[in-house]
This record gives sequence, structure tokens and C-alpha cells, in this order.
Amino acid sequence: MKSHTIMPPSACAKSYIKHVLSAVLHYSGALLLLSGITKNRLTIINCHRVVPEETIMFSANYPMMVSPARLESLLKLIATYANPISLPKAISHIYDRRAFKPRTVALTFDDGYADNYTVAFPLLQKHSIPATIFLATGYIGGERNLWWDEVEYFFRLPNASQLLEYAAIPKSIRTIMRDQVQTQWDREKAARFIRRELYRIPHNERIALVDGLWNCLTQDEKPSPLMLDWSQVKAMNGLISFGSHTVTHVFADQVDATKLGWELRESKTTIEERTGVSCDGIAYPAGKTSKRFYESAEKYGYKWGVTTAFRNNSHSVNPMGLARKDIRYFVISGDTRVASKPEMLGRLAQGSL
Ligand SMILES: [Zn+2]
Repeated sequence: MKSHTIMPPSACAKSYIKHVLSAVLHYSGALLLLSGITKNRLTIINCHRVVPEETIMFSANYPMMVSPARLESLLKLIATYANPISLPKAISHIYDRRAFKPRTVALTFDDGYADNYTVAFPLLQKHSIPATIFLATGYIGGERNLWWDEVEYFFRLPNASQLLEYAAIPKSIRTIMRDQVQTQWDREKAARFIRRELYRIPHNERIALVDGLWNCLTQDEKPSPLMLDWSQVKAMNGLISFGSHTVTHVFADQVDATKLGWELRESKTTIEERTGVSCDGIAYPAGKTSKRFYESAEKYGYKWGVTTAFRNNSHSVNPMGLARKDIRYFVISGDTRVASKPEMLGRLAQGSL
């Protein structure tokens, strides 16, 4: 990291002021923020959860997670140095070819976690920054969590290996569980591996497997719900806008046209009925985009969609395939403490710092 040695004012007042300003910008993280946001471009930030650092460290989704303190630092930076905009308003700028103000930023949250309401929403209100939350509607207000959260939870249980006796676990996972889950750390590694494996199997098989594991647990062992309920969605409606993330967080390449059509139609209708606002946008689950997904979304009335492609958006962007930047990209240098291991991994994964 480049060091900033501050010269005494007597040496050169002008240079001193410049140096101090540079140091302040550097250590506040403002330069990092500004460097990722260019003129007449829309930067869309991709966040999923706002949780303590300890939770982030053990999650495979850590690039899209942020702690409450770091989110607030970022919101202050955006309020001070950038131009926050609601995503639907930004989309209308793209359709009308109206210029963006310098450093225009839209904030998004995927999936529909309850911490978006309990933690993020009060901070967004405090700094008057709009955001869009993409809801996997089948999970809103229910007792079940998204499959990867359940998988991570199941395989962290001290008696995790016993689950093998009851569910139709794929052979590769069964072997891992038998051989490598002796300690808590082993189980963390196994949970990540299993999660990766489950991405590869067809949607229906994955859901059936996770349902099987869920049914193995006693009522006391079952995890607490992590998702928003509809009263929380309603309470945020206004400063927060809502888009679809399908009903069951389906990957478009793993289902037929009928199932995909149902996911697109059902989630849109549900959000519109619950919020009274047109649901025109979608976040493609796990960033799995394709021409087929774009065309299906358009067919069912969506006007824009967000991906996980990592870049800014110009006016020539296809509104069905807007790019986003993971929130962790912006907050790594938001404070001065040494980056933790997951942060370092996050930087490497981005290849941008
Ligand atoms: Zn998602």
C-alpha cells in the first residue's frame, strides 16, 4: 500500500494541503469509491445481506455481504461523494437517454433477507438513499430458508453425519461427510463443498434433497427463518422498490419453458399485488443469464434485469442485462484495519484491486 507521509506546513503550504486531502480521501475509502464510478455511467451495487463480520467470514456468499458499520460508512461516502438514485429512475434515464449525474449509484439487495429490513432499511432512511430489493417470493413470509443457507446450517450441526442415514445424498457428498466432518472447521469446509456440488444438480433434485434433509430435523433443530415477511416489505415500500428474483430462486438453464414462465409470472404478480407497484425488473438468480432468460423475462412483461457481470453501465447497455459490482469491492478500504482473509480472497476474486 502506498504510504502518505505528511510534510510540515512550513515546507510548502500548498503541497501540504494537497497531501492531507489525498490522505483523507485515501483512508476514508473515497478514492476507491470514486475510482469505480465514472462519468455518465450508472454503477449498480450488488448486496445480499447485512450481518456481523463473524457471519460473513463463514459464508460462501461473502462478496455480497457487508457488516452494519461498513454499510453505514459506504452510505456516508455515497451521500457525500456520489449521486444515489433509485434503480427504476435510473432505468428511465437509460430508456430516455438522459445523462446521468457524475458518480450515479443505485443500490440493490438480492433474495429478500430480513436483515434488509431490520438493519439496512434504518440506515438507508437515515441517509435518504433509495434501494431495490429483489424478492424470491416463495420464501417471503415462510418458515423455510434459501437452499444454500439450509445446507450450510444442516452441515454445521454437530450431528451432521447422521443426516446421511435418512436422505438421498449424492455419493460424492456422502463420502465427504463420512470422511471429513470430525471438527467444526471440517464441517465448514464440507458445507462449502456441498453447496458447490448442489449448484450442479437439477433444480428439482436439489430442492428434493434439501427437503429430505429438512424433514430429518426435529422441530427444535430446525433453523430460524432468515427471510423478510410481507409486512416488512410493505413497511419499506417507497424508499425501497421491489423486483423479482423468481419464486423459488430457480436457475433458468435447469428448467423448461413452462416452469420458467410460471416463475416469472407468479413472482411478478405476487409483488404487484402486495406492493401496489408495477414490478418491472428482475435479478437473475445466481447471475445465470442467457438469451433465453432475457427473452422469457421480456415476454412476461419485465422491462429490465440485473446480472452479476462486474462493470459500470453506459446508455448503450441492454436494459435486460445490467451489470453490477459486489458491495465488498467498495468497502474493503472503507476503514483502516487490516483486511481479513475473506476480504483478501474477495479482492483476488474480483481481480480489480
Ligand atoms: Zn439470489
